[in-house]
Amino acid sequence: MSTKVAVVTGSNKGIGLAIVRALCKQFQGVVYLTARDVARGQEAVASLASEGLKSTFHQLDINDLNSITVAAAYFKDKYGGVDVLVNNAGIAFKTADETPFAVQAEVTLKTNFFATRDMLTHFLPLIKPGGRVVNVSSFVGSRTLNQCSPALQQRFRSEDITEDELVGLMQQFVDKTKKGEHKAGGWPETAYGVSKTGLTTLSMILARRLSKERPNDGILLNACCPGWVRTDMAGQKAPKSPDEGAVTPVYLALLPPGATEPHGKFVSDKEVQQW
Ligand code: NDP
Repeated sequence: MSTKVAVVTGSNKGIGLAIVRALCKQFQGVVYLTARDVARGQEAVASLASEGLKSTFHQLDINDLNSITVAAAYFKDKYGGVDVLVNNAGIAFKTADETPFAVQAEVTLKTNFFATRDMLTHFLPLIKPGGRVVNVSSFVGSRTLNQCSPALQQRFRSEDITEDELVGLMQQFVDKTKKGEHKAGGWPETAYGVSKTGLTTLSMILARRLSKERPNDGILLNACCPGWVRTDMAGQKAPKSPDEGAVTPVYLALLPPGATEPHGKFVSDKEVQQW
């Protein structure tokens, strides 16, 4: 039987590192800890090793298309594909950050939506039959959906929205922030929230496509919220530890062979949430 492989993006710290830690304990295969910075990634691998856990490092900066394609080629050549992909890498400006909103919008959507989409574009074809894909989104994306205009909400919730239409809407948000027209266009004042609304919607679109194009492969793709977790992003007041935050992403990454659901859902605390 061929070696099974799990890949987690942005896993040198925070929830990503906790996901790798849990996969090292529970996944029957090689677990790849990836990071944009080689030194930070190797340090994280060493810290897990000091806990007696074996992970393997590969550089992966999701904002760098070359880094994505090099990694994708590596996993294809070495293993013939990937069994579990967790798109965890993400960024958020602090509330007090005074960077102009239009810049925050462009930078946040670049990583959380456009670069994560690049990962999916290049890695979905590599996902093996029975594979699991988990996109770490956020409850903030659901809250933001409810703050969008009824017309936008209708599109994000529709079953016929295409990837191109979604990409156009995300770009429209970024463009409108530059002209100060996003509110008039029906968008709320949250770049992080819009990026995660986009990521959850993208997960639903891609799950529908997998069902249509690879109906016999049994791949399950979902978006999730880890909860509010104590990390550099969310601060120390959050109630969940990183290991607790990893529980739902890992549950989705390890849905048992033959499972048919959840698929194309937004999941929090291991429960499918309304979208
Ligand atoms: P952290 O800031 O602690 O960690 C983020 C990780 O993503 C870091 O490893 C960071 O690397 C990495 N990263 C950022 N940009 C890139 C990139 N371009 N390429 C590769 N890696 C990158 O955040 P969390 O652990 O809290 O967040 C993890 C995920 O969970 C995010 O998607 C976040 O939006 C989501 N989330 C978090 C919540 C929380 O309460 N913490 C709540 C809901 C969702 P580096 O160290 O190099 O910066």
